Amino acid sequence: MSNEQSQALAQRAREALVGGVNSPVRAFKAVGGDPIFFARSAGAHMWDVDGNRYIDYVGSWGPMILGHTDGAVLERVAAAAAEGFSFGACSELEVLTAEKVAQLMPAMERLRMVNSGTEATMSALRAARGFTGRSRIVKFAGNYHGHGDSLLVKAGSGATTFGVPDSAGVPPDIARATLTANFNDLDDVRRVVAGGDGDVAAIILEPVAGNMGVVPPQPGFLEGLRELCDAEGIVLIFDEVMCGLRVARGGAQDRYGVTPDLTCLGKIIGGGFPVGCYGGRADIMDMVSPAGPVYQAGTLSGNPVAMAAGLATLAQLDDALYDNLEETSDILEQGLLGLTAELGIPATTNRVGSMMTLFFSPDPVADYAGATACDTERFGLWWRAMRAQGVFLPPSQFEALFISAAHTTGDIEQTLEAARVALKSL
Ligand code: PLP
Repeated sequence: MSNEQSQALAQRAREALVGGVNSPVRAFKAVGGDPIFFARSAGAHMWDVDGNRYIDYVGSWGPMILGHTDGAVLERVAAAAAEGFSFGACSELEVLTAEKVAQLMPAMERLRMVNSGTEATMSALRAARGFTGRSRIVKFAGNYHGHGDSLLVKAGSGATTFGVPDSAGVPPDIARATLTANFNDLDDVRRVVAGGDGDVAAIILEPVAGNMGVVPPQPGFLEGLRELCDAEGIVLIFDEVMCGLRVARGGAQDRYGVTPDLTCLGKIIGGGFPVGCYGGRADIMDMVSPAGPVYQAGTLSGNPVAMAAGLATLAQLDDALYDNLEETSDILEQGLLGLTAELGIPATTNRVGSMMTLFFSPDPVADYAGATACDTERFGLWWRAMRAQGVFLPPSQFEALFISAAHTTGDIEQTLEAARVALKSL
């Protein structure tokens, strides 16, 4: 597989862009690879600048639930763009998208569109602090909520991948207001909240964690958090930027039947364009400007082209799509488990719907300690062997892979054939 063009671009990028990339995981440092520069994508596939084709399981880190460059989305985006790129004022598309999101997630009584998942979580925390008049927040080790100052404490995703879960540049006073608990451990959360001196404004979590690899909530965990928040007057925030619309149309809150006070969304609601969203209880959201005193704004928020992409994506999320995703994802999971068992490789999977991680660990993974105990050297070998055969996996043990509606059983069979070769080579 030639990669001369990618290498040449990587060289130029290292001069022009910090670290050669616009987001750290794209550097592939955790898996010892060179960045791939992509030129085109369609359905379940992407092509790099050297003409190599990959079966894609990154899915742009989650948004591409329909597969790449979906025809109906493309048509709607082109039509919206022809009407105007950005108005800097209200448009009907914003109302239509907000109504559609609220219909899928009824707990989002009132919401606000922003441009990224990072903005959504930062803004939701500010609303929670404004509403409660309290300062501290509780997050979970290995959960990632974007790169806001308060949230880069024991963060997952690239922060764990690069071994810097506590970022330089975050003022200590801000970091001190973030308390950290163990995921799936209610006793630990109670202990942390008790240590918060009645000053905890919010508990924020990924209800299905995806940024330490996929870690589902254990039975009773989400319910226990709900009870604790009700008892203590704490705002419960589900960061469903990754799992919302992914693990079910109504998100994790629908799948597990636990209603948060606020929800953060991103990724799928933008259909591949930069969109985030936060919302929830009207009494909390009405604290946000111009309805209330909590300030938050955005030049391009609710951008009509991005709203059109989101709407055209959401319109296609029917029961048949989720049934199909479940079936395809199960074939992939069972196939990988069968191969690792046959070849005597210690490994385990976590999967919720179409988000999954193959962990190189002999033990089940239920929290950050379990995830970080995995054999990351072996993961790197696995990733490189799959890449060499044209399968593009997320380049870190601490990420989720995504199956899209465009992945056919043929794609999965081809992936499993590549996996047999890759696993044998470990
Ligand atoms: N929250 C979660 C759960 C995420 O997975 C991510 C990104 O991966 C974010 C927030 C941040 O979103 P963005 O990268 O759009 O800022």
